[in-house]
Amino acid sequence: MIEKREFYINGAWVAPEVSNDHEVIDPSTEEAVAVISMGSAADVDKAVAAAKAAFPAWMETPPAERIALVEKLLDVYLARSEEMAQAMTLAMGAPIDMSRNNQVGAGTFHIKEFIAAAKQFEFIRPLSDRAPNDRIVYEPVGVCGLITPWNWPMNQITLKVVAAAVAGCTMVLKPSEESPLDAMLFAEFMHEAGFPPGVFNLVNGDGMGAGTALTGHADVDMVSFTGSTRAGIAISKNAADTLKRVHLELGGKGANIIFADADEKAVKRGVIDMMQNTGQSCNAPSRMLVQRDIYDQAVEQAAAMANKIAVGDPHEEGRHIGPVVNKTQWQKIQDLIQKGIDEGARLVAGGTGLPEGFNRGYYVKPTVFADVNNDMTIAREEIFGPVLSIIPFESEEEAIAITNDTVYGLTNYIQTQDGARANRVALKVRSGMVEMNGQSRSFGSPFGGMKQSGNGREGGVYGIEDFLEIKAIGGWANE
Ligand code: NAD
Repeated sequence: MIEKREFYINGAWVAPEVSNDHEVIDPSTEEAVAVISMGSAADVDKAVAAAKAAFPAWMETPPAERIALVEKLLDVYLARSEEMAQAMTLAMGAPIDMSRNNQVGAGTFHIKEFIAAAKQFEFIRPLSDRAPNDRIVYEPVGVCGLITPWNWPMNQITLKVVAAAVAGCTMVLKPSEESPLDAMLFAEFMHEAGFPPGVFNLVNGDGMGAGTALTGHADVDMVSFTGSTRAGIAISKNAADTLKRVHLELGGKGANIIFADADEKAVKRGVIDMMQNTGQSCNAPSRMLVQRDIYDQAVEQAAAMANKIAVGDPHEEGRHIGPVVNKTQWQKIQDLIQKGIDEGARLVAGGTGLPEGFNRGYYVKPTVFADVNNDMTIAREEIFGPVLSIIPFESEEEAIAITNDTVYGLTNYIQTQDGARANRVALKVRSGMVEMNGQSRSFGSPFGGMKQSGNGREGGVYGIEDFLEIKAIGGWANE
């Protein structure tokens, strides 16, 4: 059993103020593999005090020095990437090849993005040619509370920590209690890279304990949160008393609009994208909208594709999907699949219960429902499992209306070979991101949502700006 009860505060690993053990479970075996501590308000106080004390000097550090430390972090991250992949697989169940390539890779991608963006960033810049004595100064917000989920651990941790660090903020990270080991390893990387004590701190814990203490803390200037819409609402309310800035990256219920003229791989691609990470992605294309002319064949193709997706042990190499993260999620997914059946959707692949050949582990059958209408629970709620809902549509207008008929607005997907239509629809769907014809967004593109999917943007220059205040100065002396 791995024992990791300490927190990383002010450059050192320290024991919790009050002991409160928590077991980390391997979702493929349902067995405890590690024990950590759940932090208390007293631990959060200590970490926030360290971040507050470190802020004045870190804020004054020239950006080039901060960038140089992030470059060192990248070296450490790459050198120790196998440890990181193993830590993620162990606690959240991503298959090891997927952890190595996609989960670790997402972190590499973002660290590189921030280095590139920070090198170009002008922290002090003129207002315009017509205002020679005005300067616009981008200065760090201050002490940040960073709260992350378990589903893409390094993606979310690097998006927050590295952006805050290059912006000149100091921080306290509270990772998910489901996947704390990867976050603690990341803290080791920050230490090895040489970040000054107090710039980065980590306290483990749950939402009600350490999470609430952090988001309500008077000395925390900003909270950056990724997780469920439920927690995002609670955090916004808790942060309101101190009027801190709150950045939210929340859930999604993305539509994947497949027009009759879509390329032949569109349906297959949509199923694979849905099932990746066992459906545990906020930007999963979970509602597949298919134009009536190709509907029957699309349903057949989607079912066949889902039946081909292998489910397997995450510790084994290969292109299978692993279990979902924990028992609560597994049960929630089972209940929603049952609800889909009860509400009259047509089950064409998968269903409730463990996949064949499994008698333990939180494994779910890759599941596809056809004849879903957008009022059904499975079309409205984020399932966060490998469950696809197929909804028929007749016209472009109807597809747009169904797409936008959701409280979420994170990523929508469009498949058509008619470029003019693709662009037209992209402008009409209400989401922070749109991906068309299998093309994902490029290096430096901002990640974030509209409506109840959150606010703010992460990644590249947009992600750095989120951690900055804008100060306008008039009367600047030109020497
Ligand atoms: P969650 O909201 O239960 O937990 C996320 C984090 O918030 C954890 O660290 C948890 O301890 C903490 N937390 C929970 N309640 C809190 C509270 N009241 N105060 C402070 N902290 C609190 O979510 P989860 O189950 O870990 O993650 C899945 C969710 O995250 C899904 O809804 C998914 O869509 C969302 N997500 C969004 C994005 C995005 O960028 N939009 C990315 C990944 C995941």
